[in-house]
Amino acid sequence: MVRFFKRGAAKGDAEPAPVTKKPFEEIKPDPDKIGISGSVPFVRLPEPGSLFRARAGRLLALAPGHPLEAYLRLVAEVARAQAQVEAERAAAGWDVTEPDEAGRALRTEHGMPPLSRHGIEADPTFHDCLDGLLAALDLSAAPEEVRAAQAALRVAPKEDRLDLAVQVFEGAIPVERVAECLFVSAALQVCLARRAARLDAKTLKPVADGVCPCCGGAPTASLIVAWTPADKARYLSCSLCGTLWNHVRIRCTACGSGEGISYYGIDEVSKDVQVETCTTCHSYLKHLHQHRAPTLDPVADDIASYGLDLKITEEGFRRAGLNLLFVV
Ligand SMILES: [Zn+2]
Ligand SMILES: [Zn+2]
Repeated sequence: MVRFFKRGAAKGDAEPAPVTKKPFEEIKPDPDKIGISGSVPFVRLPEPGSLFRARAGRLLALAPGHPLEAYLRLVAEVARAQAQVEAERAAAGWDVTEPDEAGRALRTEHGMPPLSRHGIEADPTFHDCLDGLLAALDLSAAPEEVRAAQAALRVAPKEDRLDLAVQVFEGAIPVERVAECLFVSAALQVCLARRAARLDAKTLKPVADGVCPCCGGAPTASLIVAWTPADKARYLSCSLCGTLWNHVRIRCTACGSGEGISYYGIDEVSKDVQVETCTTCHSYLKHLHQHRAPTLDPVADDIASYGLDLKITEEGFRRAGLNLLFVV
């Protein structure tokens, strides 16, 4: 029997008390309590050179003996292939031309995420990344369905592959093509991480709750980090481009409410991985205490903590996070 409980945080590391409702003008955030201050960078752009390699390592470390071991090993192979494609393209000197420069500048000026679907449609490196990824993958241990998706994408017309990429970018993954979308998503993540890494962090502005300021993507998970000037600040991790952006603690990433926020864990999952639930919109997001366990990875640890999803959805909450390598 799984014991499900509202987790009390370790002594000296307590989650701040939920924010009490006050008229808007009275709200004066306490930087210590919400993990944010003027000195906390708004975004941390991805470092593609290490992002995928570290993720592959984390997935392999989590796999042995795990109930989802086969899937963790499959995604580890995808992340390894992502790292290989990124390294090969970096060595060849990535095309440094932003495919949608004029549109990007215009969107930044209007407070919109600079990376858009138009940039994907105009990005010739997407097909190179996807071809490189499909060639690099060793799927000898993968199920037939996954190998069939790899073979189908290799011969698919460019327009079809691009159409899938745009659907993934817009969060509308076709259920009948989930296996193909795993590889399309992985290629997209490589392209977008590289394009996001080239942006000027100082020009990026908040767009909306739970929306990546670089590409408009949804978060995979929330991280409490230890590396900012203000320790224990909270960042959301983009499911598409890998950017981390600061988000006030104890506020729902889906509806923006600061009321009815709770944190839960289960014995079977590391105490450093919880869910943040919101009773206003009944959504939840994985909440990783990376400050206590620096190797936690939003994609890898989201998959490994699937038991927590099963339990919290039974309680009536729906998933607000998006993990493109684990569409459930
Ligand atoms: Zn993003
Ligand atoms: Zn909410």
